[in-house]
Amino acid sequence: MKPRGMQGTGLQKKDQEKKWAEVKKQVLSQKPMAYDDNFGWWNIESIEDLDFYHDVQRQSVEKRCRRCDRLVRILPHYDICGTCADHIEKGY
Ligand SMILES: [Zn+2]
Repeated sequence: MKPRGMQGTGLQKKDQEKKWAEVKKQVLSQKPMAYDDNFGWWNIESIEDLDFYHDVQRQSVEKRCRRCDRLVRILPHYDICGTCADHIEKGY
């Protein structure tokens, strides 16, 4: 027999997901721009972008950029910040 509490939790989770989806839609309707140290400015245009952005934020760690020596939040396998990567790309 399943404990009663389990069913309640399942429903609650579904409700939360629904609410979360609405929050995301609302955020997207404002055409958000977000900045992070990995990629610089983000144009967030879809729920996938938003999820990806949050994923990147979650995985980022505090590190010192090898090039500009700033303390930044970047993905563990990166060793330079987005600004430096951009400069290198543009050949500064
Ligand atoms: Zn840097």
